[in-house]
This record gives sequence, C-alpha cells and structure tokens, in this order.
Amino acid sequence: MSLFVNQPPDGVALRNGSPADASRAAVRLLVRGHVQGVGFRPYVFRLAQRFRLGGRVYNTVNGVVIELEGASEELIRFQERLVAEAPAAAIIDSLSRETAAPVGRSSFAIDPSDSSASPQVRVPPDLAICAECRRDILDPLNRRQAYPFTNCTACGPRYSILYAMPYDRPATAMHLFPMCAACDAEYHNPDDRRFHAQPNACAACGPRVGLWDREGRLIAGSPTALVAAAKVLRQGQVVALKGLGGFQLLVRADQSEPVGRLRQRKGRPSKPLAVMVASLEAAEEIAALTPLERRLLQSPQNPIVLVQKRNHSCDRFTAAENKANVAAPVAPRLSTVGLFLPTTPLHHLLLAALDLPLVATSGNLTEGPIITDEREAVRRLAGVADAFLVHDRPIVRGVDDSVVRRIAGQAVTIRLARGLAPLPLPAVEALARTKACPPLLATGGHQKNALAIWTGTQAILAQHVGDLDNPETRSTFNRVAHDLAGLYQFAPVGLACDLHPDYYTTQWAFAQNKPLTQVQHHHAHAVACMVENNLLDREVLALTWDGTGYGTDGTIWGGEILRVACTGFRR
Ligand SMILES: [Zn+2]
Ligand SMILES: [Zn+2]
Repeated sequence: MSLFVNQPPDGVALRNGSPADASRAAVRLLVRGHVQGVGFRPYVFRLAQRFRLGGRVYNTVNGVVIELEGASEELIRFQERLVAEAPAAAIIDSLSRETAAPVGRSSFAIDPSDSSASPQVRVPPDLAICAECRRDILDPLNRRQAYPFTNCTACGPRYSILYAMPYDRPATAMHLFPMCAACDAEYHNPDDRRFHAQPNACAACGPRVGLWDREGRLIAGSPTALVAAAKVLRQGQVVALKGLGGFQLLVRADQSEPVGRLRQRKGRPSKPLAVMVASLEAAEEIAALTPLERRLLQSPQNPIVLVQKRNHSCDRFTAAENKANVAAPVAPRLSTVGLFLPTTPLHHLLLAALDLPLVATSGNLTEGPIITDEREAVRRLAGVADAFLVHDRPIVRGVDDSVVRRIAGQAVTIRLARGLAPLPLPAVEALARTKACPPLLATGGHQKNALAIWTGTQAILAQHVGDLDNPETRSTFNRVAHDLAGLYQFAPVGLACDLHPDYYTTQWAFAQNKPLTQVQHHHAHAVACMVENNLLDREVLALTWDGTGYGTDGTIWGGEILRVACTGFRR
C-alpha cells in the first residue's frame, strides 16, 4: 500500500477530480506579532472571501498561519493587501511565505485556536473604543444606543478581562454573559465587524451598570445610572467609576473647589491630576497640541498624554473659571497637564452627558494599587467618593492608565500600563534566542516597579506595579509575578534583580531559591534605554541621570556616566 494514497502524483494537482489549471496556486503564510484580540483572523477571513480564495486561518505555536488557494493573480492581490489593510491595532512583527501545492480548496474557514499553541501568541492589550462603536452608541436608531459595553474586533477589553490564553470568550470575564441571539448572529457573521469579537455584548445580554451610594446601596440601575452619575458630578461631588483596568476617582475639572475636595480626601495635596475630555476638540481648548500629541490622544492605546496648557495664566486662583478649561488645582504651578480621551463607551457616554472635563485619577488611597472590585471600592473609598458607578463584569487584573509625553519630537512612555502592557520586546527576544537563555523573571526596581519576563519564546515587559514601600503594592507585585507565570505558561529557571540589599524585590528574589543575577541599578537603566533604541549589540556611552542606586562598591551612586555593553559596564 502506498503511503501517499491521498496525495496527487508529482507535478499534478487535482481539483474536484479534474486536472488543475496552471493559473491556480497555493501559499502558506506565517504571521507573527500582535495579531490576536485585534480582529486579525476575521479580517483574514473577509480578505480571503474578497479575493475568492479557499483555505483556512489558525493559530500555531509560531503565530497565525494562513493557508490560501485560488487564482494566482488573486493570491498576489491578497498578499499585497494583507499588511496594508490590517486592523489598526494589529502589529505584524514578521510575515513569511512558502508556496504549497493546490489541493482544490474553494471555501475559507477560521479553524479553532489550538490551546496548546499559545506560547508564541501575543497576549492582547486593552483597546479604547473605536470610531464605529462610538457612532453606534450615539445613534438613536442603533440597538446599542447608550449601551456602555459596546465593542467590536477593533476595540474593547482584552488584557484586563483575560483569565488564560488563547484569547477566546470562555477564557475571559465575558464567560458570565451568554450572548443573545442577535449578538450571536453578529459573532458568527463574517460580514459583521463583530465577527469573532470575543467580548461582544448588548443591553439584552451583556454587563450592566448601576450607581451606588456610599454604603453600596443601589441608587439607579441601567439605563438611568449614567444620567444620575452625571448629575452627581455636575454638583461637584466625587464619583468612583469602575473603568477598564480598575476604579477611577472622577470630579469636575473646571472648578477649584471640587478638585480641592478630591485632593483633600485622597491625601494627594499637590501632585498633578489627569483630566479626561470628551473629544479632541475639547482637548484643543485646554492645550496647544502637536500632530504627534493628537495621534497619541486618538490612538487605541488611549494613554494620558502630558501636554502644554494653552492658557497658563488661568493658573492664578483669581482667574475666571471656564467650563471648557481646567481649574488651577488640577496641575498646580505646572505649564503642562495630562489629558486623555474617553477609554470605554461608559466613559464616552458619561462625558457626553456632562459636557465638562473630568479629573480622572486612580481609585486608590495614597499611592496604593488600583482597586478593581466594587465591594472593596465601597469599603475603602467610602471616605473619598460620594457615589460609585459600577458594573457586573469582573476586572481580572488591575491595570492603571498609561502616561506618555513628547520628548524631542518622540513619544516617550512615562508609565506603561493599560493599552500598552504587556509589551513585547523583540530586541530582547532576538538576543535571548541567540544566547539560548533559559526562562527568566526580572523583578524590576523598588519604586515605579514593573516586572519583565523571558518565557523561552517571548520577552515581555508587564504593567506598572508602583512603589514597593507600600505593603499593598507588595501584594500586587507578588500577584503579578504569579499571574505572568500562569498567563504565559512558563516557570522561570532564574531571576534577575537589583544590587540593593534593602529593595523589596531583591529580598523577594533571594527568597525564591533560584539562580540569581544581580544587576547594578544604573547599568539596568542604561540597558533598558539600549533596548528601547535597539542598541543591544553595541557598546554605548550612557548618561544615567537617575536619582540614586546601589553601586558595585556598596556605596550609593547618583547620576553616572558609564561605558555600557548589555553584559557589563565601566564607570
Ligand atoms: Zn469598536
Ligand atoms: Zn446581546
């Protein structure tokens, strides 16, 4: 018996029992990068339909595989369009191609994810509401009008609702909300932009909002909760809102007195507060924006962007307060202010109802970790918030708002969190692969802590954790370390930490009883900078104008000029 009984003879491809015509061809494409949770597979499906190609798309251990078959010229057109028209949130690291033999496929399918195939697939970050979903929630004729959890393949929660990879609805907090018939039809319709949108939901089947008082009693349920919350805010009171990555404290930003109240209750006397505005136009009224800043504000990552205030003179407390502007106590004595646009439909609807800029700051007490659970929020923020705008979709992991700013014409990340984390580090991956580096966890420093991992296939920088002087932030650090191991299905063989013996992270690393590499503080900063600028293979002169760090001689070093390679340095 021939082993090749199902294969056509050499050089002869069969289609529907007839000899293949020479104009037919087949290819196999391998796509790597941020291609999950961004509507990439549905996009591939639609593109294949457009060019009448057969085949399938599926995830493998190495990335997304697309098998295609059809007319040669249509295959070429597909490949020309694939990268050019990819969803805005997709980032293609690499695309490789090999030719295959046509086997007579005429239909195209999305094959189920292979759950054993997750390690190389990127964990998707959360995405802010897209323009089309924004239109849906404001359209009186749309069935999602005013629905605060509207999303599609181009936008919505990802990382903050994810229990495990691969990213599919049963592995997210949305498993609690079975889709209604209308949502299910969208989910299965290749022509719908909610085709395979994992958090797809509507008012009939999805999460619901409610407004609670300080004791956690319901004041208003869906759909009146938003209007009631807007009223509370207009009166100058503080609302704790369950956002995408955790609770935020909101207060109107155009008047000094409410802002002062929030500062006093939160124990944050002078550090600047971020402001959420309804639209780019509203941002332009407050700040003079450059094209880069406009792009950052409108990006699906939706960071807080530090920008130049337009009317710095309004910083005088006597200046007339203007509802389109921000009051002086928002960012006292600073010429800059942190602005961002509505992250979710919930934010968007609230801002639209208010027509005022809102202070939006992390829902925590004096620099602790962001609160994610509504019952905990009521317990801990009762002295800060006058009301709680909550919902019944769990936040699986807390992620703060990201902060970026323009420095020398480039976007620089100040705080890497919601929308940006988890961040893949391709330069580190390339290096770790060539050195056959075993799986590793790097603990990060003590203040503004963040963890990084090398899983054996992926190098990932995780979200901002915070200041580890705070015992609660230490618990968060432990939780994130555990969470990363679960999400990326890896066990670190070794650890890397700072040299400083008093850092919580150093002590934690020693307690793990694993091979440990201690890295000098300024050297770590310099190498991080080399990673950002793709200079890992070079020797550089590094000016690390850091505060202080533990030196190799056991003394505290300050600003240092170092000659640095990634494996060592000279002072
Ligand atoms: Zn959308
Ligand atoms: Zn529904």
